[in-house]
Amino acid sequence: MPAPLSAVAEEASTCTRCALAAGRTTVVFGMGDPTSDLMFVGEGPGAEEDKQGLPFVGRSGKLLDQLVWEEMGLTRDRTYIANVVKCRPPNNRDPLPEEIAACRPYLEAQLDLIGPKVVVTLGKFAGQLLLESREAITRLRGRSYPFASGVLVPTVHPAYVLRGGAEPMAQMRADLVRAKQALAAAGSPLATAGAAS
Ligand code: URA
Repeated sequence: MPAPLSAVAEEASTCTRCALAAGRTTVVFGMGDPTSDLMFVGEGPGAEEDKQGLPFVGRSGKLLDQLVWEEMGLTRDRTYIANVVKCRPPNNRDPLPEEIAACRPYLEAQLDLIGPKVVVTLGKFAGQLLLESREAITRLRGRSYPFASGVLVPTVHPAYVLRGGAEPMAQMRADLVRAKQALAAAGSPLATAGAAS
Protein backbone atom coordinates (compact mmCIF):
# COMPACT_ATOMS: atom_id res chain seq x y z
CA MET A 1 0.00 0.00 0.00
CA PRO A 2 1.40 3.48 -0.83
CA ALA A 3 2.34 5.75 2.08
CA PRO A 4 -0.45 8.22 2.91
CA LEU A 5 0.08 11.88 2.07
CA SER A 6 0.84 12.70 5.71
CA ALA A 7 3.73 10.22 5.69
CA VAL A 8 5.14 11.78 2.52
CA ALA A 9 4.81 15.24 4.09
CA GLU A 10 6.59 13.99 7.19
CA GLU A 11 9.43 12.62 5.10
CA ALA A 12 9.69 15.88 3.13
CA SER A 13 9.81 17.96 6.32
CA THR A 14 13.42 16.95 6.94
CA CYS A 15 14.48 16.55 3.31
CA THR A 16 18.10 17.23 2.34
CA ARG A 17 17.94 15.94 -1.24
CA CYS A 18 19.10 19.23 -2.73
CA ALA A 19 20.97 22.40 -1.83
CA LEU A 20 17.76 24.36 -1.12
CA ALA A 21 17.56 22.54 2.23
CA ALA A 22 20.41 24.66 3.58
CA GLY A 23 18.62 27.98 3.06
CA ARG A 24 15.05 27.18 3.97
CA THR A 25 13.18 28.01 7.16
CA THR A 26 10.33 25.55 6.55
CA VAL A 27 9.52 22.94 3.95
CA VAL A 28 6.33 24.03 2.18
CA PHE A 29 4.81 20.69 1.29
CA GLY A 30 1.26 21.69 0.35
CA MET A 31 -2.14 22.49 1.85
CA GLY A 32 -5.81 21.96 1.31
CA ASP A 33 -8.17 19.05 0.79
CA PRO A 34 -6.15 15.88 0.10
CA THR A 35 -9.20 14.37 -1.62
CA SER A 36 -9.91 17.39 -3.83
CA ASP A 37 -10.73 17.03 -7.51
CA LEU A 38 -8.74 20.22 -8.14
CA MET A 39 -5.04 20.71 -7.54
CA PHE A 40 -2.93 23.80 -8.20
CA VAL A 41 0.79 23.48 -8.77
CA GLY A 42 2.98 26.57 -8.47
CA GLU A 43 6.71 27.11 -8.74
CA GLY A 44 8.21 27.30 -5.26
CA PRO A 45 7.84 29.07 -1.93
CA GLY A 46 8.67 32.74 -1.55
CA ALA A 47 9.69 34.55 1.63
CA GLU A 48 6.27 34.54 3.26
CA GLU A 49 5.61 30.89 2.39
CA ASP A 50 9.03 29.92 3.77
CA LYS A 51 8.18 31.68 7.02
CA GLN A 52 4.69 30.23 7.42
CA GLY A 53 5.25 26.79 5.89
CA LEU A 54 2.21 27.22 3.63
CA PRO A 55 1.96 27.71 -0.15
CA PHE A 56 0.75 30.91 -1.78
CA VAL A 57 0.23 33.01 1.34
CA GLY A 58 1.92 36.17 -0.01
CA ARG A 59 0.71 38.64 -2.64
CA SER A 60 0.53 36.04 -5.42
CA GLY A 61 -1.53 33.81 -3.18
CA LYS A 62 -3.99 36.56 -2.36
CA LEU A 63 -4.53 37.14 -6.06
CA LEU A 64 -4.88 33.41 -6.65
CA ASP A 65 -7.50 33.17 -3.90
CA GLN A 66 -9.39 36.14 -5.35
CA LEU A 67 -9.46 34.84 -8.92
CA VAL A 68 -10.32 31.27 -7.90
CA TRP A 69 -13.23 32.65 -5.91
CA GLU A 70 -14.42 35.01 -8.64
CA GLU A 71 -14.09 32.58 -11.55
CA MET A 72 -14.73 29.22 -9.87
CA GLY A 73 -16.66 30.07 -6.70
CA LEU A 74 -14.16 28.09 -4.63
CA THR A 75 -12.15 28.83 -1.51
CA ARG A 76 -8.67 27.33 -1.23
CA ASP A 77 -9.68 24.79 1.40
CA ARG A 78 -11.79 23.00 -1.25
CA THR A 79 -8.68 22.57 -3.40
CA TYR A 80 -5.14 21.31 -2.87
CA ILE A 81 -2.18 23.63 -3.49
CA ALA A 82 1.44 22.58 -3.91
CA ASN A 83 4.61 23.64 -5.69
CA VAL A 84 7.22 22.13 -7.97
CA VAL A 85 9.92 22.72 -5.34
CA LYS A 86 9.06 22.59 -1.67
CA CYS A 87 11.87 24.82 -0.39
CA ARG A 88 12.48 28.50 -1.10
CA PRO A 89 15.16 29.24 -3.68
CA PRO A 90 17.50 32.00 -2.39
CA ASN A 91 16.39 35.52 -3.35
CA ASN A 92 13.41 33.98 -5.16
CA ARG A 93 15.59 32.86 -8.06
CA ASP A 94 14.25 30.25 -10.49
CA PRO A 95 14.54 26.67 -9.27
CA LEU A 96 17.45 24.80 -10.92
CA PRO A 97 16.90 21.64 -12.97
CA GLU A 98 18.61 19.50 -10.32
CA GLU A 99 16.41 20.99 -7.59
CA ILE A 100 13.28 20.31 -9.63
CA ALA A 101 14.44 16.74 -10.28
CA ALA A 102 15.27 16.13 -6.60
CA CYS A 103 11.84 17.38 -5.49
CA ARG A 104 9.86 15.70 -8.25
CA PRO A 105 9.06 12.49 -6.34
CA TYR A 106 7.17 14.56 -3.74
CA LEU A 107 5.03 16.19 -6.40
CA GLU A 108 4.47 12.84 -8.12
CA ALA A 109 3.37 11.35 -4.79
CA GLN A 110 0.97 14.24 -4.21
CA LEU A 111 -0.54 13.82 -7.68
CA ASP A 112 -0.86 10.04 -7.23
CA LEU A 113 -2.34 10.15 -3.74
CA ILE A 114 -4.70 13.08 -4.30
CA GLY A 115 -5.68 11.95 -7.79
CA PRO A 116 -7.18 15.27 -8.88
CA LYS A 117 -9.49 15.30 -11.89
CA VAL A 118 -8.14 18.71 -12.86
CA VAL A 119 -4.62 20.04 -12.33
CA VAL A 120 -4.00 23.75 -12.87
CA THR A 121 -0.34 24.61 -13.30
CA LEU A 122 0.68 28.16 -12.39
CA GLY A 123 3.53 29.50 -14.50
CA LYS A 124 6.28 28.10 -16.64
CA PHE A 125 7.99 25.65 -14.30
CA ALA A 126 4.94 23.63 -13.31
CA GLY A 127 3.44 23.70 -16.81
CA GLN A 128 6.62 22.64 -18.56
CA LEU A 129 7.43 19.96 -15.99
CA LEU A 130 4.07 18.25 -15.98
CA LEU A 131 3.53 18.56 -19.73
CA GLU A 132 7.14 17.54 -20.43
CA SER A 133 7.43 20.50 -22.75
CA ARG A 134 9.82 23.37 -23.32
CA GLU A 135 7.19 25.60 -24.92
CA ALA A 136 6.65 29.03 -23.41
CA ILE A 137 3.71 29.13 -21.02
CA THR A 138 2.04 31.75 -23.20
CA ARG A 139 1.91 29.11 -25.94
CA LEU A 140 0.97 26.20 -23.69
CA ARG A 141 -1.93 27.99 -22.04
CA GLY A 142 -5.35 28.49 -23.60
CA ARG A 143 -6.34 24.82 -23.78
CA SER A 144 -6.48 21.73 -21.62
CA TYR A 145 -4.41 18.56 -21.97
CA PRO A 146 -5.07 14.95 -21.01
CA PHE A 147 -3.15 14.26 -17.81
CA ALA A 148 -3.06 11.09 -15.70
CA SER A 149 -6.73 10.20 -15.22
CA GLY A 150 -7.93 13.77 -15.75
CA VAL A 151 -6.90 16.96 -17.46
CA LEU A 152 -4.26 19.62 -16.99
CA VAL A 153 -5.00 23.30 -17.52
CA PRO A 154 -1.85 25.42 -17.73
CA THR A 155 -2.06 29.06 -16.82
CA VAL A 156 0.28 31.94 -16.12
CA HIS A 157 1.78 32.56 -12.69
CA PRO A 158 -0.13 35.02 -10.47
CA ALA A 159 3.15 36.93 -9.87
CA TYR A 160 3.24 37.56 -13.62
CA VAL A 161 -0.35 38.74 -13.50
CA LEU A 162 0.56 41.12 -10.66
CA ARG A 163 3.32 42.61 -12.84
CA GLY A 164 1.60 42.37 -16.18
CA GLY A 165 -1.70 44.21 -16.12
CA ALA A 166 -4.88 43.50 -18.02
CA GLU A 167 -3.93 40.82 -20.53
CA PRO A 168 -2.33 38.26 -18.18
CA MET A 169 -5.23 38.84 -15.79
CA ALA A 170 -7.74 38.08 -18.54
CA GLN A 171 -5.73 34.99 -19.53
CA MET A 172 -5.68 33.64 -16.00
CA ARG A 173 -9.39 34.28 -15.56
CA ALA A 174 -10.17 32.48 -18.83
CA ASP A 175 -7.97 29.52 -17.80
CA LEU A 176 -9.75 29.22 -14.46
CA VAL A 177 -13.10 29.18 -16.25
CA ARG A 178 -11.63 26.41 -18.44
CA ALA A 179 -10.64 24.50 -15.30
CA LYS A 180 -14.17 24.83 -13.94
CA GLN A 181 -15.57 23.52 -17.21
CA ALA A 182 -13.17 20.59 -16.99
CA LEU A 183 -14.44 19.86 -13.47
CA ALA A 184 -18.00 19.89 -14.81
CA ALA A 185 -17.07 17.56 -17.66
CA ALA A 186 -15.52 15.19 -15.10
CA GLY A 187 -18.71 15.24 -13.00
CA SER A 188 -17.02 16.91 -10.03
CA PRO A 189 -19.26 18.54 -7.41
CA LEU A 190 -16.73 21.39 -7.31
CA ALA A 191 -18.09 22.52 -10.66
CA THR A 192 -21.37 23.57 -9.09
CA ALA A 193 -19.82 25.32 -6.09
CA GLY A 194 -20.27 28.87 -4.97
CA ALA A 195 -21.34 32.10 -6.52
CA ALA A 196 -19.61 31.90 -9.88
CA SER A 197 -21.86 31.03 -12.77
N1 URA B 1 4.81 31.45 -5.80
C1 URA B 1 4.76 30.11 -6.01
O1 URA B 1 4.99 29.62 -7.09
N2 URA B 1 4.41 29.35 -4.97
C2 URA B 1 4.14 29.82 -3.78
O2 URA B 1 3.83 29.03 -2.89
C3 URA B 1 4.20 31.22 -3.59
C4 URA B 1 4.54 32.01 -4.62
